[in-house]
Amino acid sequence: MRALAEARRTVVEAMVPLPVISVPLAEAAGLVLASDVVAPHDVPPFPNSAVDGFAVRAVDLVSVPIELVVVEDLPAGRVASHRVLTGTAIRIMTGAPMPDGADSVVMVEDTEEQSGTVTIRRAVRTGENVRPAGGDLASGAVALEAGTRLGPAAMGVLATLGVTLPRVRRRPVVAVASTGDELLPSEAVTLRPGTIRDSNRPMLTALLHESGMEVRDLGIIPDDARLLRSTLEEAASTADAVVTTGGVSMGAHDLVKQVLGELGRVEFWKVAMQPAKPFAFGFLGETPFFGLPGNPVSVAVAFEQFLRPAMLRRLGAIRLFRPRMRAIAAEDLVTNPGKVVFVRVAIDDDGSVRPAGGQSSNVLSALAAADAFAVVPVGVGTVAVGEVVTVEMWRAAETRTLEEAEDD
Ligand code: AMP
Ligand code: MG
Repeated sequence: MRALAEARRTVVEAMVPLPVISVPLAEAAGLVLASDVVAPHDVPPFPNSAVDGFAVRAVDLVSVPIELVVVEDLPAGRVASHRVLTGTAIRIMTGAPMPDGADSVVMVEDTEEQSGTVTIRRAVRTGENVRPAGGDLASGAVALEAGTRLGPAAMGVLATLGVTLPRVRRRPVVAVASTGDELLPSEAVTLRPGTIRDSNRPMLTALLHESGMEVRDLGIIPDDARLLRSTLEEAASTADAVVTTGGVSMGAHDLVKQVLGELGRVEFWKVAMQPAKPFAFGFLGETPFFGLPGNPVSVAVAFEQFLRPAMLRRLGAIRLFRPRMRAIAAEDLVTNPGKVVFVRVAIDDDGSVRPAGGQSSNVLSALAAADAFAVVPVGVGTVAVGEVVTVEMWRAAETRTLEEAEDD
Protein backbone atom coordinates (compact mmCIF):
# COMPACT_ATOMS: atom_id res chain seq x y z
CA MET A 1 0.00 0.00 0.00
CA ARG A 2 1.27 3.48 -0.93
CA ALA A 3 1.48 6.43 1.43
CA LEU A 4 -0.84 9.25 0.34
CA ALA A 5 1.83 11.97 0.16
CA GLU A 6 4.09 9.76 -1.95
CA ALA A 7 1.31 8.75 -4.35
CA ARG A 8 0.23 12.37 -4.69
CA ARG A 9 3.76 13.58 -5.41
CA THR A 10 4.24 10.89 -8.07
CA VAL A 11 1.03 11.92 -9.84
CA VAL A 12 1.58 15.68 -9.63
CA GLU A 13 5.23 15.54 -10.71
CA ALA A 14 4.31 13.49 -13.80
CA MET A 15 2.23 16.41 -15.13
CA VAL A 16 3.52 18.55 -18.00
CA PRO A 17 2.22 22.16 -18.11
CA LEU A 18 0.14 22.97 -21.21
CA PRO A 19 1.20 25.49 -23.87
CA VAL A 20 1.09 29.24 -23.22
CA ILE A 21 -1.50 31.29 -25.12
CA SER A 22 -3.08 34.74 -24.83
CA VAL A 23 -6.82 34.85 -24.27
CA PRO A 24 -9.32 37.71 -24.01
CA LEU A 25 -9.72 38.76 -20.39
CA ALA A 26 -13.38 37.71 -20.35
CA GLU A 27 -12.31 34.10 -21.04
CA ALA A 28 -9.46 34.00 -18.53
CA ALA A 29 -11.29 33.35 -15.26
CA GLY A 30 -10.00 30.15 -13.66
CA LEU A 31 -6.86 30.02 -15.83
CA VAL A 32 -3.30 30.52 -14.56
CA LEU A 33 -0.91 33.36 -15.46
CA ALA A 34 2.12 32.17 -17.43
CA SER A 35 4.15 35.32 -16.67
CA ASP A 36 4.25 38.07 -14.04
CA VAL A 37 1.88 40.98 -14.61
CA VAL A 38 3.61 44.33 -13.97
CA ALA A 39 1.56 47.47 -13.30
CA PRO A 40 2.04 49.79 -16.32
CA HIS A 41 0.86 52.78 -14.27
CA ASP A 42 -0.02 53.74 -10.70
CA VAL A 43 -3.24 52.41 -9.19
CA PRO A 44 -5.07 54.58 -8.35
CA PRO A 45 -3.73 56.59 -11.31
CA PHE A 46 -4.25 59.94 -9.50
CA PRO A 47 -4.76 61.06 -5.89
CA ASN A 48 -8.46 61.05 -5.13
CA SER A 49 -10.96 61.45 -2.36
CA ALA A 50 -11.81 58.44 -0.17
CA VAL A 51 -15.07 60.02 1.03
CA ASP A 52 -17.82 62.43 0.08
CA GLY A 53 -16.92 65.78 1.67
CA PHE A 54 -14.91 68.95 1.14
CA ALA A 55 -11.39 69.21 -0.25
CA VAL A 56 -9.44 71.66 1.91
CA ARG A 57 -6.00 72.80 3.01
CA ALA A 58 -5.36 71.18 6.42
CA VAL A 59 -3.57 74.35 7.64
CA ASP A 60 -6.81 76.30 7.22
CA LEU A 61 -8.48 74.22 9.94
CA VAL A 62 -6.19 74.89 12.93
CA SER A 63 -9.11 76.39 14.79
CA VAL A 64 -12.56 74.93 14.15
CA PRO A 65 -15.39 75.56 13.53
CA ILE A 66 -14.45 77.66 10.53
CA GLU A 67 -16.47 78.82 7.52
CA LEU A 68 -14.96 78.33 4.02
CA VAL A 69 -16.21 79.54 0.64
CA VAL A 70 -17.26 76.65 -1.63
CA VAL A 71 -15.85 77.43 -5.08
CA GLU A 72 -16.84 74.29 -7.01
CA ASP A 73 -18.77 71.02 -6.95
CA LEU A 74 -16.64 68.06 -8.09
CA PRO A 75 -18.20 64.70 -8.93
CA ALA A 76 -16.17 61.53 -9.73
CA GLY A 77 -15.01 61.49 -13.35
CA ARG A 78 -14.30 65.26 -13.61
CA VAL A 79 -11.24 67.38 -12.98
CA ALA A 80 -11.53 70.58 -10.88
CA SER A 81 -11.28 73.86 -12.76
CA HIS A 82 -10.41 75.85 -9.61
CA ARG A 83 -7.54 75.69 -7.15
CA VAL A 84 -8.27 75.43 -3.44
CA LEU A 85 -6.82 78.64 -2.01
CA THR A 86 -6.73 79.73 1.65
CA GLY A 87 -10.28 80.19 2.92
CA THR A 88 -11.91 78.08 0.20
CA ALA A 89 -13.06 74.49 -0.27
CA ILE A 90 -14.33 72.30 -3.14
CA ARG A 91 -17.27 69.98 -2.56
CA ILE A 92 -15.88 66.56 -3.64
CA MET A 93 -17.31 63.08 -4.17
CA THR A 94 -15.63 59.73 -3.51
CA GLY A 95 -13.19 58.91 -6.33
CA ALA A 96 -12.94 62.47 -7.71
CA PRO A 97 -9.34 63.64 -8.30
CA MET A 98 -7.90 65.91 -5.63
CA PRO A 99 -8.02 69.54 -6.78
CA ASP A 100 -4.75 71.47 -6.94
CA GLY A 101 -4.04 73.29 -3.68
CA ALA A 102 -6.05 70.88 -1.52
CA ASP A 103 -4.25 68.27 0.61
CA SER A 104 -7.08 66.74 2.68
CA VAL A 105 -10.77 65.99 2.66
CA VAL A 106 -13.25 66.66 5.49
CA MET A 107 -16.07 64.12 5.59
CA VAL A 108 -19.49 65.56 4.83
CA GLU A 109 -20.61 64.30 8.27
CA ASP A 110 -18.21 66.80 9.93
CA THR A 111 -19.57 69.79 8.00
CA GLU A 112 -22.65 71.94 7.59
CA GLU A 113 -23.29 73.50 4.20
CA GLN A 114 -24.91 76.90 3.68
CA SER A 115 -25.54 78.52 0.35
CA GLY A 116 -22.07 79.24 -1.05
CA THR A 117 -20.18 78.35 2.14
CA VAL A 118 -19.48 75.37 4.41
CA THR A 119 -18.82 75.28 8.14
CA ILE A 120 -16.13 72.73 9.04
CA ARG A 121 -16.52 71.35 12.56
CA ARG A 122 -13.49 69.05 12.76
CA ALA A 123 -9.82 69.54 11.84
CA VAL A 124 -8.02 67.00 9.59
CA ARG A 125 -4.46 65.71 9.28
CA THR A 126 -2.66 66.54 6.03
CA GLY A 127 -3.57 63.74 3.63
CA GLU A 128 -6.58 62.60 5.64
CA ASN A 129 -9.25 60.91 3.47
CA VAL A 130 -7.01 61.13 0.39
CA ARG A 131 -6.10 57.96 -1.52
CA PRO A 132 -2.61 58.58 -2.94
CA ALA A 133 -1.63 57.72 -6.53
CA GLY A 134 -0.03 54.27 -6.50
CA GLY A 135 -1.39 53.52 -3.02
CA ASP A 136 -2.82 50.22 -4.28
CA LEU A 137 -0.11 49.35 -6.86
CA ALA A 138 2.88 51.49 -7.80
CA SER A 139 3.82 51.72 -11.48
CA GLY A 140 6.36 48.95 -12.22
CA ALA A 141 5.34 46.73 -9.29
CA VAL A 142 4.53 43.04 -9.86
CA ALA A 143 0.77 43.01 -9.45
CA LEU A 144 0.23 39.26 -9.98
CA GLU A 145 2.88 36.56 -10.18
CA ALA A 146 3.24 33.81 -12.77
CA GLY A 147 1.48 30.71 -11.46
CA THR A 148 -1.46 32.67 -10.01
CA ARG A 149 -4.86 31.22 -10.82
CA LEU A 150 -7.25 33.96 -11.87
CA GLY A 151 -9.98 34.18 -9.26
CA PRO A 152 -12.50 37.01 -9.14
CA ALA A 153 -10.21 39.52 -7.41
CA ALA A 154 -7.30 38.83 -9.79
CA MET A 155 -9.68 39.33 -12.73
CA GLY A 156 -10.48 42.76 -11.29
CA VAL A 157 -6.77 43.60 -10.92
CA LEU A 158 -6.11 42.69 -14.59
CA ALA A 159 -9.05 44.86 -15.68
CA THR A 160 -7.76 47.80 -13.59
CA LEU A 161 -4.36 47.53 -15.28
CA GLY A 162 -5.82 47.35 -18.78
CA VAL A 163 -4.54 43.81 -19.42
CA THR A 164 -6.87 42.72 -22.22
CA LEU A 165 -5.01 39.60 -23.40
CA PRO A 166 -3.39 37.90 -20.39
CA ARG A 167 -0.72 35.24 -21.07
CA VAL A 168 -2.04 32.03 -19.58
CA ARG A 169 -1.83 28.31 -20.18
CA ARG A 170 -4.49 26.65 -22.27
CA ARG A 171 -7.52 25.38 -20.39
CA PRO A 172 -7.21 21.58 -20.03
CA VAL A 173 -9.89 19.42 -21.60
CA VAL A 174 -10.74 16.54 -19.28
CA ALA A 175 -12.71 13.60 -20.70
CA VAL A 176 -14.99 12.01 -18.10
CA ALA A 177 -16.69 8.61 -18.22
CA SER A 178 -18.66 6.66 -15.67
CA THR A 179 -18.37 2.88 -15.91
CA GLY A 180 -20.88 0.35 -14.65
CA ASP A 181 -23.73 -1.83 -15.97
CA GLU A 182 -25.94 -0.59 -13.11
CA LEU A 183 -25.81 3.07 -14.15
CA LEU A 184 -28.58 5.07 -15.78
CA PRO A 185 -28.25 8.67 -16.93
CA SER A 186 -29.43 11.21 -14.37
CA GLU A 187 -32.42 12.01 -16.61
CA ALA A 188 -33.81 8.49 -16.04
CA VAL A 189 -37.33 8.89 -14.65
CA THR A 190 -37.77 5.36 -13.32
CA LEU A 191 -35.17 2.99 -11.97
CA ARG A 192 -35.34 -0.63 -13.08
CA PRO A 193 -34.51 -3.10 -10.31
CA GLY A 194 -30.78 -3.11 -9.67
CA THR A 195 -30.08 0.21 -11.36
CA ILE A 196 -29.06 3.61 -9.94
CA ARG A 197 -28.57 7.02 -11.49
CA ASP A 198 -25.01 8.07 -12.33
CA SER A 199 -24.04 10.71 -9.79
CA ASN A 200 -20.30 10.73 -10.47
CA ARG A 201 -20.32 12.48 -13.85
CA PRO A 202 -22.44 15.48 -12.81
CA MET A 203 -20.38 15.86 -9.64
CA LEU A 204 -17.03 15.55 -11.45
CA THR A 205 -18.19 17.96 -14.14
CA ALA A 206 -19.03 20.56 -11.48
CA LEU A 207 -15.72 19.98 -9.67
CA LEU A 208 -13.75 20.29 -12.91
CA HIS A 209 -15.53 23.48 -13.97
CA GLU A 210 -14.91 25.02 -10.54
CA SER A 211 -11.22 24.11 -10.98
CA GLY A 212 -10.87 25.88 -14.32
CA MET A 213 -11.13 22.81 -16.60
CA GLU A 214 -13.18 22.12 -19.69
CA VAL A 215 -15.11 18.84 -19.63
CA ARG A 216 -15.66 16.34 -22.44
CA ASP A 217 -18.53 14.11 -21.47
CA LEU A 218 -17.98 10.48 -22.52
CA GLY A 219 -21.20 9.34 -20.91
CA ILE A 220 -21.76 5.97 -19.27
CA ILE A 221 -19.70 2.99 -20.42
CA PRO A 222 -21.11 -0.46 -19.60
CA ASP A 223 -18.83 -3.10 -18.12
CA ASP A 224 -17.75 -4.28 -21.57
CA ALA A 225 -14.04 -4.47 -22.33
CA ARG A 226 -14.43 -3.76 -26.06
CA LEU A 227 -16.53 -0.62 -25.54
CA LEU A 228 -14.25 0.58 -22.77
CA ARG A 229 -11.19 0.10 -24.97
CA SER A 230 -12.56 2.02 -27.96
CA THR A 231 -13.95 4.88 -25.86
CA LEU A 232 -10.75 5.40 -23.90
CA GLU A 233 -8.50 5.13 -26.95
CA GLU A 234 -10.49 7.79 -28.78
CA ALA A 235 -10.68 10.07 -25.70
CA ALA A 236 -6.93 9.86 -25.09
CA SER A 237 -6.23 11.23 -28.56
CA THR A 238 -8.36 14.36 -28.08
CA ALA A 239 -8.27 15.25 -24.35
CA ASP A 240 -5.58 16.47 -21.93
CA ALA A 241 -6.61 13.86 -19.37
CA VAL A 242 -9.00 10.94 -19.27
CA VAL A 243 -10.94 10.13 -16.12
CA THR A 244 -13.15 7.14 -15.38
CA THR A 245 -15.04 6.17 -12.26
CA GLY A 246 -15.68 2.61 -11.13
CA GLY A 247 -14.19 -0.68 -12.21
CA VAL A 248 -10.86 -0.41 -10.38
CA SER A 249 -11.50 -2.67 -7.41
CA MET A 250 -11.42 -6.47 -7.08
CA GLY A 251 -14.76 -7.53 -8.64
CA ALA A 252 -15.10 -9.82 -11.66
CA HIS A 253 -16.48 -6.91 -13.71
CA ASP A 254 -13.81 -4.38 -12.73
CA LEU A 255 -12.45 -4.10 -16.25
CA VAL A 256 -10.78 -0.70 -16.19
CA LYS A 257 -7.42 -1.98 -15.00
CA GLN A 258 -7.45 -4.87 -17.46
CA VAL A 259 -8.23 -2.61 -20.43
CA LEU A 260 -5.73 0.01 -19.38
CA GLY A 261 -3.03 -2.57 -18.98
CA GLU A 262 -3.56 -3.41 -22.65
CA LEU A 263 -3.76 0.19 -23.87
CA GLY A 264 -1.03 2.03 -22.01
CA ARG A 265 1.36 2.38 -19.13
CA VAL A 266 -0.87 2.14 -16.11
CA GLU A 267 -0.12 1.60 -12.45
CA PHE A 268 -2.65 0.35 -9.96
CA TRP A 269 -2.27 1.44 -6.44
CA LYS A 270 -3.84 0.89 -3.14
CA VAL A 271 -3.29 4.17 -1.35
CA ALA A 272 -3.39 4.26 2.46
CA MET A 273 -6.39 6.57 2.50
CA GLN A 274 -10.09 6.28 3.21
CA PRO A 275 -12.26 6.69 1.26
CA ALA A 276 -10.67 6.09 -2.17
CA LYS A 277 -8.22 3.29 -1.50
CA PRO A 278 -8.09 1.72 -5.00
CA PHE A 279 -6.81 4.12 -7.60
CA ALA A 280 -5.36 3.69 -11.09
CA PHE A 281 -2.99 6.20 -12.64
CA GLY A 282 -0.98 6.15 -15.80
CA PHE A 283 -0.66 7.32 -19.38
CA LEU A 284 -2.50 6.43 -22.57
CA GLY A 285 0.16 7.58 -25.02
CA GLU A 286 1.01 11.07 -23.69
CA THR A 287 -2.37 11.57 -22.04
CA PRO A 288 -2.64 11.13 -18.27
CA PHE A 289 -5.27 8.65 -17.16
CA PHE A 290 -7.02 8.63 -13.78
CA GLY A 291 -9.09 5.59 -12.81
CA LEU A 292 -11.10 6.78 -9.82
CA PRO A 293 -13.09 4.39 -7.64
CA GLY A 294 -16.86 3.99 -8.11
CA ASN A 295 -18.33 5.18 -4.86
CA PRO A 296 -19.20 8.87 -5.14
CA VAL A 297 -17.47 10.06 -1.98
CA SER A 298 -14.34 8.17 -3.00
CA VAL A 299 -14.54 9.99 -6.33
CA ALA A 300 -14.64 13.37 -4.60
CA VAL A 301 -11.75 12.54 -2.26
CA ALA A 302 -9.60 11.10 -5.07
CA PHE A 303 -10.42 14.15 -7.18
CA GLU A 304 -9.24 16.46 -4.40
CA GLN A 305 -6.04 14.60 -3.63
CA PHE A 306 -4.93 13.54 -7.13
CA LEU A 307 -6.86 14.79 -10.12
CA ARG A 308 -7.39 18.40 -9.09
CA PRO A 309 -3.78 19.16 -8.09
CA ALA A 310 -2.54 17.28 -11.17
CA MET A 311 -4.68 19.30 -13.55
CA LEU A 312 -3.92 22.57 -11.77
CA ARG A 313 -0.26 21.74 -12.39
CA ARG A 314 -1.01 21.26 -16.11
CA LEU A 315 -2.68 24.68 -15.96
CA GLY A 316 0.59 26.07 -14.60
CA ALA A 317 -0.56 26.79 -11.04
CA ILE A 318 1.88 26.93 -8.13
CA ARG A 319 -0.73 26.48 -5.43
CA LEU A 320 -2.47 23.12 -5.92
CA PHE A 321 -4.18 22.16 -2.68
CA ARG A 322 -7.03 23.71 -0.76
CA PRO A 323 -6.31 25.41 2.57
CA ARG A 324 -6.10 23.55 5.86
CA MET A 325 -6.90 24.88 9.31
CA ARG A 326 -7.10 23.55 12.82
CA ALA A 327 -10.44 22.96 14.49
CA ILE A 328 -11.78 21.41 17.67
CA ALA A 329 -13.80 18.19 17.40
CA ALA A 330 -17.31 18.75 18.78
CA GLU A 331 -17.91 14.97 18.69
CA ASP A 332 -15.64 11.93 18.65
CA LEU A 333 -14.26 11.16 15.18
CA VAL A 334 -13.62 7.42 15.05
CA THR A 335 -11.32 6.44 12.18
CA ASN A 336 -8.95 3.76 10.91
CA PRO A 337 -5.43 4.21 12.31
CA GLY A 338 -3.88 2.46 9.30
CA LYS A 339 -4.92 5.15 6.81
CA VAL A 340 -5.30 8.87 6.29
CA VAL A 341 -9.05 9.21 6.82
CA PHE A 342 -11.06 12.05 5.32
CA VAL A 343 -14.11 12.66 7.52
CA ARG A 344 -16.92 14.75 6.06
CA VAL A 345 -17.54 17.42 8.67
CA ALA A 346 -19.76 20.44 9.18
CA ILE A 347 -18.21 23.54 10.75
CA ASP A 348 -20.22 25.08 13.58
CA ASP A 349 -20.42 28.82 14.29
CA ASP A 350 -17.80 28.47 17.04
CA GLY A 351 -15.34 26.90 14.56
CA SER A 352 -15.70 23.36 15.94
CA VAL A 353 -16.42 20.43 13.61
CA ARG A 354 -18.71 17.42 13.77
CA PRO A 355 -19.48 14.62 11.28
CA ALA A 356 -21.86 15.86 8.57
CA GLY A 357 -23.64 12.49 8.39
CA GLY A 358 -22.85 8.85 7.62
CA GLN A 359 -19.25 8.17 6.67
CA SER A 360 -19.62 5.23 4.27
CA SER A 361 -18.17 6.03 0.87
CA ASN A 362 -21.56 5.79 -0.85
CA VAL A 363 -23.21 8.43 1.40
CA LEU A 364 -23.07 11.43 -0.90
CA SER A 365 -25.68 13.38 1.07
CA ALA A 366 -23.17 13.77 3.91
CA LEU A 367 -20.69 15.25 1.45
CA ALA A 368 -23.29 17.70 0.19
CA ALA A 369 -23.84 18.72 3.84
CA ALA A 370 -20.11 18.98 4.60
CA ASP A 371 -18.11 22.20 4.80
CA ALA A 372 -14.73 20.48 5.00
CA PHE A 373 -12.87 17.21 5.40
CA ALA A 374 -11.30 16.50 8.76
CA VAL A 375 -7.98 14.86 7.83
CA VAL A 376 -7.08 12.26 10.44
CA PRO A 377 -3.49 11.02 9.96
CA VAL A 378 -2.11 7.50 9.98
CA GLY A 379 -1.57 6.37 13.58
CA VAL A 380 -4.65 8.10 15.01
CA GLY A 381 -7.70 5.91 15.67
CA THR A 382 -9.98 8.38 17.42
CA VAL A 383 -10.03 12.15 17.64
CA ALA A 384 -11.86 12.65 20.94
CA VAL A 385 -14.27 15.51 21.70
CA GLY A 386 -12.27 18.66 22.47
CA GLU A 387 -9.15 17.54 20.62
CA VAL A 388 -7.62 19.48 17.76
CA VAL A 389 -8.02 18.11 14.24
CA THR A 390 -6.78 19.37 10.85
CA VAL A 391 -9.54 20.28 8.40
CA GLU A 392 -9.24 20.80 4.64
CA MET A 393 -11.67 23.41 3.30
CA TRP A 394 -13.04 21.53 0.34
CA ARG A 395 -14.94 24.43 -1.21
CA ALA A 396 -12.19 27.04 -0.88
CA ALA A 397 -9.72 28.01 -3.60
CA GLU A 398 -6.30 26.33 -3.38
CA THR A 399 -3.59 27.93 -1.22
CA ARG A 400 -0.95 25.22 -0.68
CA THR A 401 1.94 24.13 -2.91
CA LEU A 402 3.03 20.51 -3.38
CA GLU A 403 5.80 21.07 -0.82
CA GLU A 404 3.30 22.45 1.69
CA ALA A 405 1.11 19.36 1.20
CA GLU A 406 3.79 16.82 2.08
CA ASP A 407 2.61 15.87 5.54
CA ASP A 408 0.12 13.02 4.92
P1 AMP B 1 -17.16 -0.28 -8.58
O1 AMP B 1 -15.86 0.30 -8.16
O2 AMP B 1 -17.40 -0.18 -10.03
O3 AMP B 1 -17.32 -1.66 -8.05
O4 AMP B 1 -18.29 0.60 -7.86
C1 AMP B 1 -18.33 0.72 -6.45
C2 AMP B 1 -19.69 1.24 -6.01
O5 AMP B 1 -19.90 2.55 -6.55
C3 AMP B 1 -20.87 0.41 -6.49
O6 AMP B 1 -21.85 0.40 -5.47
C4 AMP B 1 -21.35 1.18 -7.68
O7 AMP B 1 -22.71 0.96 -7.96
C5 AMP B 1 -21.12 2.59 -7.27
N1 AMP B 1 -20.95 3.47 -8.43
C6 AMP B 1 -20.09 3.26 -9.44
N2 AMP B 1 -20.18 4.23 -10.36
C7 AMP B 1 -21.13 5.10 -9.90
C8 AMP B 1 -21.69 6.30 -10.43
N3 AMP B 1 -21.26 6.83 -11.57
N4 AMP B 1 -22.64 6.92 -9.70
C9 AMP B 1 -23.06 6.38 -8.53
N5 AMP B 1 -22.58 5.26 -7.99
C10 AMP B 1 -21.63 4.60 -8.67
MG1 MG C 1 -18.56 -1.06 -11.37
